[in-house]
Amino acid sequence: MPTTDGDIVIVGGGPAGVVTAVALVRTAPELADRVVIVEKETYPREKLCAGAIGRRGWAILERLGAVPMVPSVSIEGITVRVGSEEVESRLGGLGYVVRRLEFDHALARIAVGLGVRLREGIKVLGIRRDGRGAVVETTQGEMPAAVVVGADGVGSVVRRVVGVKPEGYRAQVLEVDTEPWAGDRDRGLIHFDVTDRELRGYTWDFPTLVDGRALVCRGIYMLRIGGEVDLGDHLRRKLAGMGIDLASCRNKRFAERGFGSDTTVVEGPIMLVGEAAGIDPLVGEGIAQAIEYGSLAGSFLADVVRDRRPLGDWTALLMRSRLAFDLRIRSALVKLAFGPARADAERWMLECKNLLECGCRHFAAMPIDFPALGEALLHGAWTLGAGGAAREFRRLLATQAG
Ligand SMILES: Cc1cc2nc3c(=O)[nH]c(=O)nc-3n(C[C@H](O)[C@H](O)[C@H](O)COP(=O)(O)OP(=O)(O)OC[C@H]3O[C@@H](n4cnc5c(N)ncnc54)[C@H](O)[C@@H]3O)c2cc1C
Repeated sequence: MPTTDGDIVIVGGGPAGVVTAVALVRTAPELADRVVIVEKETYPREKLCAGAIGRRGWAILERLGAVPMVPSVSIEGITVRVGSEEVESRLGGLGYVVRRLEFDHALARIAVGLGVRLREGIKVLGIRRDGRGAVVETTQGEMPAAVVVGADGVGSVVRRVVGVKPEGYRAQVLEVDTEPWAGDRDRGLIHFDVTDRELRGYTWDFPTLVDGRALVCRGIYMLRIGGEVDLGDHLRRKLAGMGIDLASCRNKRFAERGFGSDTTVVEGPIMLVGEAAGIDPLVGEGIAQAIEYGSLAGSFLADVVRDRRPLGDWTALLMRSRLAFDLRIRSALVKLAFGPARADAERWMLECKNLLECGCRHFAAMPIDFPALGEALLHGAWTLGAGGAAREFRRLLATQAG
């Protein structure tokens, strides 16, 4: 089936899939009736997620005229705790915390309002090639497609069809929603704690609104490198310190998939977006990234379907994008943050307030503050360089003593 004919089937109705549909239709409104989103759940559906979306994501939604009107908590700043020390940045207007149950439903309604077909409660089981197109096999029969977009998240069926090997970073995540406690930060702050060196990751406390109740979403993010750690045990200990019993909370466990520069993101008539392609492995941020994937993919697909460029260009377009540049940097930072230089990296974070501020600016898509960034990089070079030299010196002394 030529791409100029037939449906564009988007597998998965999370932010990556729905924004792909919205961006496609905004670029080429005449294609609306050829766009189908297939979602295995029925909205409003639960998605395990702390729901913090930086202004970078919201700005894309504003540009697309697709801002979901849902209850939210404004993010005014970020705090990071390391042992007994804490660093804070309060730039204001960094983004919002939403409930995915509400956000994804409202976003899907916006796509439907633009003429996109949404088929809920249908699970994609497999995909097979058919001439130049594909046939999508679902729990409710087969759907012919000119193009298939895999936006089906961490456990992506489409990714498996494309043949991507299961390499790259994977993370385990566990979260609970609890009542606030006396030690919580202001409700405008999202809080990270990287104190526990046994975790290649962090714990978090984000303000959230659940059915009008001001609760706190608390969780653990841990990269799966080497040995396994019992996340439940870590969260139990953290909550016990707040007088909360983990067993009394509905806890939710899930995985996340990091981005790899060499991941295959297109194969024949099938392309990948969002977490199916890979997100940030450093802190596991994936919603704004999914939105950005969708925005790029939607306008790209409009060109593909109008026969102006081949689908195979997706790899080059994605890998040259700001999004991939960002994800590559975050992937490179994983080893620094959780590897042998972790103590030096933490010292850099605590001593150089500009570092967190630059991170906040990035999260919120604020203009880069070049003097602050320059100072943070110099500080990092000094801290990590001096730390590395000190380690070498200690190693030398140990060798001499031996
Ligand atoms: C506990 C936890 C906390 C998180 N907190 C944050 C946070 O605070 N901020 C942040 O930015 N990111 C966070 N993330 C990451 C974020 O949730 C994801 O990266 C993001 O949702 C990815 O969007 P997506 O559209 O690619 O995939 P998803 O949102 O996972 O959407 C995929 C969709 O595909 C559907 N689907 C799956 N398989 C099939 C199939 N076979 N057939 C049909 N449909 C299918 C699913 O039902 C789902 O609706 C968190 C993740 C976890 C696990």
